[in-house]
Amino acid sequence: MSLAETIIKLWGGTLSLLFPSSCLICGRAGEALCRSCLTGLPRLGTMVCPCCGLPGDGTICLHCRTDKPPYSLALAAAPYEGRWRDIIHQFKYCRHPELADPLGRYLAEVLRERLSEVRIDLVTSVPLHAERQRERGYNQAELLARSLCAAAGNPPYRQTLSRVKPSLPQHTLNRKERHANLKRAFSPLPGALQGGERVLLVDDVMTTGATVHECSACLLKAGAAVVCVAALARKL
Ligand SMILES: [Zn+2]
Ligand SMILES: [Zn+2]
Repeated sequence: MSLAETIIKLWGGTLSLLFPSSCLICGRAGEALCRSCLTGLPRLGTMVCPCCGLPGDGTICLHCRTDKPPYSLALAAAPYEGRWRDIIHQFKYCRHPELADPLGRYLAEVLRERLSEVRIDLVTSVPLHAERQRERGYNQAELLARSLCAAAGNPPYRQTLSRVKPSLPQHTLNRKERHANLKRAFSPLPGALQGGERVLLVDDVMTTGATVHECSACLLKAGAAVVCVAALARKL
């Protein structure tokens, strides 16, 4: 970390002591995102493909019919656009890990409504490469998953995957390049799975689904019986 970054970080820490957290949207003192702002944000409807979660007529989409993804189902709470885009950008790139609390609770609520029939044994998250995590200071997907578990009470969180290959940021690549970029990028952590677990894999944003596709395949290969995916937002 450069001297300038250290000063900014220390200054930020001092500021947050002087001015406790306030809502990112309305500025009201209290939570990093207040309840009324969160509930006012757009949500994805229930007319989605039961496999990949993309909006449609509620039946399995053509893409999933011709090329079935390794996960059993993927569900996203919100569309990745407008205000959601700004919030996730702040959470991910602007050192606002405290957003994990309200966002994890929000995701837990959506899952309770839409995933209540699915049995899950453990919750895990899409890993960041160690280098990227050092730069960012945290893995936003892990914070989100841990907050979701804390809100839901059960099942437990467990880290199961590591990112072994540093890769180019996915948002700079097209669909084909994304899949190639992720080939053998993930590896299961030794002993993280006993075998036969029903796993919920959490990520902040699903874009083409290439990342959760690779992670799910990796978890299944490591012994998971079923992988379901939950993302806060999804690019439509
Ligand atoms: Zn607010
Ligand atoms: Zn689909």
